[in-house]
Amino acid sequence: MAGRNHLYIPGPTNVPQSVLNAMNVAMEDHRSPAFPKLLKPLLEDLKKIFRTEEGQCFIFPATGTAGWEVAFTNTLSPGDKVLIYRFGQFGHLWAAMARRLGLDVEMHEEPWGTGIPLDKLEARLKADTNHDIKAVLATHNETSTGVTSDIAGVRKALNAANHPALLFVDGVSSIASIDFRMDEWGIDAAISGSQKGFMMPAGGAFLAFSQKALAMTETAGFPRCFLDLKDQMTNNKDGYTPYTPSIPILYGLRQALDLLLEEGMENVYDRHHRLAEGTRRAVAAWGLKICAQPGFESDTVTAVVVPEDKDARHVIATAFNKYNLSLGGGLSEVMGKVFRIGHIGDMNEVSMLGAIAGAEMAMLDNGFDIKPGSGVGAAIEYYRSTAK
Ligand SMILES: *Cc1c(COP(=O)(O)O)cnc(C)c1O
Repeated sequence: MAGRNHLYIPGPTNVPQSVLNAMNVAMEDHRSPAFPKLLKPLLEDLKKIFRTEEGQCFIFPATGTAGWEVAFTNTLSPGDKVLIYRFGQFGHLWAAMARRLGLDVEMHEEPWGTGIPLDKLEARLKADTNHDIKAVLATHNETSTGVTSDIAGVRKALNAANHPALLFVDGVSSIASIDFRMDEWGIDAAISGSQKGFMMPAGGAFLAFSQKALAMTETAGFPRCFLDLKDQMTNNKDGYTPYTPSIPILYGLRQALDLLLEEGMENVYDRHHRLAEGTRRAVAAWGLKICAQPGFESDTVTAVVVPEDKDARHVIATAFNKYNLSLGGGLSEVMGKVFRIGHIGDMNEVSMLGAIAGAEMAMLDNGFDIKPGSGVGAAIEYYRSTAK
C-alpha cells in the first residue's frame, strides 16, 4: 500500500527520524574507558524525566513487564501482601505476575473506565493496622481503557493512614508524556519502557527507585539474577553494566532525552493534553462516548466506545486494510467494544487529524451514524483556538 502506515496505537509509538538515525550506529566495546561517558549522563538525565533527585534510575535491556518484576523481586519476599485495584488489562497482568511470583495479592475490582478509588484505598490502609500490606500497586495510566489515576492522591492516602507500604507506580504509558513527579508523590518504584512516551523501539526498561526501596534490596527474599538491582548499582557506579547493554537503545535514548528536555517537560505535558483534548472533542462530535469516566481521562490514549450494535474490531480492520491506519484494539473485557487512539509520543496536531479522519472514514464505512467531517471539524477548531 502506498504511503506510510499511520501508527496510532498506544505503543510502540512513532520513532522520530533523529532517534532512528541516532540508533543506527556501529557496535562498540561496552568495557572501554569511553563507555561511561555515554551511560552516566543517561542515568542522570533520566532523573529529570522521572522528576527525582533523591531516587536512582536504571536501564535494563528489557521491557516494562521486566520493570514490574525488578520492583517485586528486589524489594519484597514471597508471601508478602500487595494491594491493587483492578480496572484494566495492565493492572490485571501486573497482579497476575505478583501471584505467579508467590506474593499474596489483595485485589479489588473496580469498573473499567474508572481509576484508583482513593477513598476506598485510604479506608483499607487505615484498617491495616498491622501493616501487613507491603506495597501498593498503582497503574498511573491504564492503557487499555484510557484512564489516568491520581498518584498524588494515592500518596495522600498512604500518608493519611500513616502507612509504611512501598508505592509502586506503573508509568509505562505516562512517564515522559503526562505529569509525573517521583519525589513529590513519594514513589518508591517507578516503571517505564522505551516504546511509549520515550518514542523508541521496545527493548529498554527505564526504572527509578527511591532510597527506601533500594535499602530493601538487602532484605528482599526473592532469588534474582538478571534483574538484580545490586548488580546494576555495583556496575553503574563506574558507568558500566553487569552484562552487555543494547548499544542502539542507549544512543536512541540519548537523542530522545535531548528532544524531550529541549522541548521542556511542561511543554511535553501540555502538548499531550492538547492533542488528547482535540481527540476527545472529535469523539463527542461523533456522538460517541469514551471509556474513561469524567475525571479519569488520559492524555496519552483515548478508548472510544462504539454503539452496542457495532463491533470495534471491524472499525480497526477497515482502518488498517483500507486506509493503512493502525488503531488500538479493545483488550479483554472491552474487546470489540472500544477502539483506541493513541496520542502519545512524537505527535502533533496534523498527525492527530490524520488519525481522527481515518477513524471517521472507517466508522462511516461500517455504517456508523456520524456526520462526515464532524470529528475532524471539532478537533480543527480546538487545535486552532489553542495553538501557541
Ligand atoms: C505497555 C504497557 C505495559 C507493558 O509493557 P511491555 O513493555 O510491553 O512489557 C505495562 N503497563 C502499561 C500501563 C503499559 O501501557
